[in-house]
Amino acid sequence: EKKLLEINNLKKYFPVKAGVFKKTVAYVKAVDDISFFIKKGETLGLVGESGCGKSTAGATILRLLEATAGEVIFDGRDILSLNKGKLREIRKEMQIIFQDPYASLNPRMTVADIVGEPLDIHNLVKNKQEKYERVSQLMNNVGLTVEQMKRYPHEFSGGQRQRIGIARALAVNPKLIIADEPVSALDVSVQAQVINILQDLQQEYGLTYLFIAHDLSVVKHISDRVAVMYLGKIVEMTDKDEIYLNPLHPYTQSLLSAIPIPDPSFKKERIILEGDVPSPVDPPTGCRFHPRCPKAIDLCSSKEPEFKDYGNGHYVACHLLD
Ligand code: SF4
Ligand code: MG
Repeated sequence: EKKLLEINNLKKYFPVKAGVFKKTVAYVKAVDDISFFIKKGETLGLVGESGCGKSTAGATILRLLEATAGEVIFDGRDILSLNKGKLREIRKEMQIIFQDPYASLNPRMTVADIVGEPLDIHNLVKNKQEKYERVSQLMNNVGLTVEQMKRYPHEFSGGQRQRIGIARALAVNPKLIIADEPVSALDVSVQAQVINILQDLQQEYGLTYLFIAHDLSVVKHISDRVAVMYLGKIVEMTDKDEIYLNPLHPYTQSLLSAIPIPDPSFKKERIILEGDVPSPVDPPTGCRFHPRCPKAIDLCSSKEPEFKDYGNGHYVACHLLD
């Protein structure tokens, strides 16, 4: 199938003041040379602990943050080299949904205005009647009623607010939606509802998703493939089933060992990692995971493992596989 999004060697460094007198400049290497692709109509789950760079990667792809280096090819166009005007045109094809929809919904606007605003910004409707019809349709798309259009964000539950955020993102007929922890703030039962809506919309409109989460269990149902990030790097990426049944990177193995499994006859040992995630300002040499890796060998502290395909698109960065 055709690739809708292709990321090559993407980096995003943030300068910070460092040293005793805060006069030297160091860099937070939030995203440090990541490469992946998403096929049209597919969902890639991007998973990692907080601070691993996954949200920064999402924002950099959309140019909400400017990349330090690398390439973002969206539908055949190089996003990072577009000028402001061209970027505006393409923006509507790539939308983002945030973890906390409340923070991104203007409390003084009705839901009709919130969902309808992008239609005006991008000149997608000719008159009030057409706008009303389109907003009504979007409300139905996310399981809200036309009656609810007149209300304000504070009158809705967390799950409903996330639906409003989805409706707003959907208004411009995007091809790609980056969902940055869209269900992390919601109760488990509500999480499933929101994920189901996203899946239904994907089916209906052929949407492509980058679904960011901090937990492998959340992305399990929605993803076709999963990529795991650790300290600014993608360490493993493969088909959904493969990542759960045959994880090859020790970090992925530790993440999976923390998820409860329904089958008690399947013995699984919990892998507890030692230490905290190191600072992305001065990441460990060699493999960044080596100070915490239960399987590290001598080579791991000096040589960085290459991220490569070990067969059938199962990408891993670990010396143990060589
Ligand atoms: Fe562990 Fe070494 Fe593999 Fe890194 S390269 S994950 S330290 S075994
Ligand atoms: Mg985040």
